[in-house]
Amino acid sequence: MKCAHEGCQKEASCAPKICVPAVNGPLEESKTIGLILSLKICQLHFDELKIKDFLSPTSDLRRMVEIVARGKAEPDFERAWFKRVLLISNEFGMFERAQAGRPGGG
Ligand SMILES: [Zn+2]
Repeated sequence: MKCAHEGCQKEASCAPKICVPAVNGPLEESKTIGLILSLKICQLHFDELKIKDFLSPTSDLRRMVEIVARGKAEPDFERAWFKRVLLISNEFGMFERAQAGRPGGG
């Protein structure tokens, strides 16, 4: 599968996972809200992702994080970061299986 970046001919190797800590919370991945994006890209384009572009006040991703955070600590989008998830990793495999099992997902 090719990188999802327009015009890129490289093989996709990874997907971004957004990690959002709670306000005043620790920056350990296990303590953050983590959502994998179904955006398969190459290493180069992963490095070029700008998290601010994904977290505009009206963005779907921001809304999804807010839904997950409901009833928990308030998410701190200012300190959010992207973790690289390899497409061959178990973590991504589990994500894809979860997507496939959901109506309208994929
Ligand atoms: Zn690329």
